[in-house]
Amino acid sequence: MTRVVIGSDHAGFELKEKVKKYFDEIGVICEDKGVFSTNSADYPDIASAVAKEISLRKADFGVLICGTGIGMSIVANKFPGVRAALIFNEYTARMSRMHNDANLLAFSGRIFDFEYVKELLKTFMESSFSSDSRHRKRVEKIADIEREILESAFPYFSSLRKFDPEVFSAIVGEIKKQEYMINLIASENMISLRSLIALFNPMNNKYAEGYPGKRYYGGCEFVDQVEEIARERVKRLFSAEHANVQPHSGTQANQAVYLAFCEAGDKILGFDLSSGGHLSHGAKVNFSGKIYKSVSYTVSKQTHLIDMNEVREIALRERPKIIIAGASSYPRAIDFRAFSEIAKEVGAYFLADIAHPAGLAAAGVFPNPTPFADFVTFTTHKTLRGPRGAVILSKSEHAKKIDSAVFPGSQGGPFMHVIASKAVAFKEAMEDDFKDYCTQVIRNARAMADEFLKLGYNVITGGTDSHIVLVDVTPKGVSGAEVESALYNSGIVLNKNVIPFDQRPPMNPSGIRVGTAAITTRGMKEEEARKIVQLINKVIASKFDSNVINSVKNEVKELTSGYPYYKELLNHMES
Ligand code: PLP
Repeated sequence: MTRVVIGSDHAGFELKEKVKKYFDEIGVICEDKGVFSTNSADYPDIASAVAKEISLRKADFGVLICGTGIGMSIVANKFPGVRAALIFNEYTARMSRMHNDANLLAFSGRIFDFEYVKELLKTFMESSFSSDSRHRKRVEKIADIEREILESAFPYFSSLRKFDPEVFSAIVGEIKKQEYMINLIASENMISLRSLIALFNPMNNKYAEGYPGKRYYGGCEFVDQVEEIARERVKRLFSAEHANVQPHSGTQANQAVYLAFCEAGDKILGFDLSSGGHLSHGAKVNFSGKIYKSVSYTVSKQTHLIDMNEVREIALRERPKIIIAGASSYPRAIDFRAFSEIAKEVGAYFLADIAHPAGLAAAGVFPNPTPFADFVTFTTHKTLRGPRGAVILSKSEHAKKIDSAVFPGSQGGPFMHVIASKAVAFKEAMEDDFKDYCTQVIRNARAMADEFLKLGYNVITGGTDSHIVLVDVTPKGVSGAEVESALYNSGIVLNKNVIPFDQRPPMNPSGIRVGTAAITTRGMKEEEARKIVQLINKVIASKFDSNVINSVKNEVKELTSGYPYYKELLNHMES
């Protein structure tokens, strides 16, 4: 079915409405970018909204109508890949298609009446690009000119592509995979383009051991500014007394907290790995379980929720130095206040690790543990949508010890370009639209949980309060590992996951973990979230039939194409 994007200014409004009606009658899908009245409007605004869609190849062609058609065609031709033609009679309508492969037509809303325009549109739609090599060569030359302009404006990609094609093509491959597959890995997201660009900066070169105003290297005035901005923003975001923005990862943030407040052999109490905890909360294979004596709490066998009575009993018995709350695959809100009260009762420090829901907590749609916890750690690349890295928040009284444990205790020079990017992510997280994003993340997760339940899956805890849905797939006679692998072949990326009290081995467990941070970043809502669950179910119900896998793969491609995210970046890289 033909898809068209249309737009006009006030002078073209009435004609546009008639053209839309005509498209509707002949079965052409038509997206209207405005205007929606005869109130005076600026033609560049509408022309760029339409041309952008054509540049991203989201429609077959575009239609622009203003007083003469001239202003709008000028604007549209600024967009890569757009070939806008100003048409005024049957001959130009036909030739624009046959010789110039025009993908957008602009015309006057003041000179022509609707019947005349209808004939022009018919002619345009019935014509096709000539197979004559002369015309093809000329249109390719237009593309060459665009490429040259793009390269001279931003030469870095072409320079890397020419110098190191192997690495370049692996990078492009990864971006394409992220763009055209559905990413449901709960610990991942799609970094915001502003944070991504902030990473691309020569602060990378700067050694800045120490902290703003007190460095072991000279020349730190600008990186000081950036670190100070990042610290202040993140403190404001979480209402924290102190922030350290230097940890390179969530694991290193937790490591610094233990280093600051525990001696080797001290006891730490964390959430059991197989119930949803993280390696760095005391798993035997991790430094946290090797250096410290770790004990753990699990979830209730009946509800799969954390049982605060059990946590208290264990804490009273074991008297740990630190109690850790936070998880990698626990879908529900955590009662941070109750944890802090238990910690106080047993004389322990309380560490809340919100690596996963940090963005949601910053936006106020998930509990923020900062008022209750001695320390809060989190990663900046999951729901916060920033660069890889982490943060430690703490009470002021612990600031000195935390800072010393990060540097010089467990890290050397901070990654100042990453801190610049973190600062941008924190600024974005203060915006109203970030709150909308986080609200939608949870709505999407709830829609998915609901759809899984409807289709007969066992959703652990019966739902979610976050971006995570943990699903037991064994009622369908399949394992988590089989589902992970078949879905990957269908264009859907997620990970197998143990479920609480899993009877199956960790490499082939009963569950899958689903996260909605990335699909929501690209604009998907509940309808798409439900559709994705239906696609997952289609693959599982077919018992991984290769024909079904292939047809789902096509549906995934169509779905992701409707929600482009790195498309413009790819256009730049491949230009
Ligand atoms: N803490 C929790 C709860 C996590 O889920 C994760 C990672 O997923 C981390 C810490 C570790 O983060 P990183 O991979 O940056 O070390």
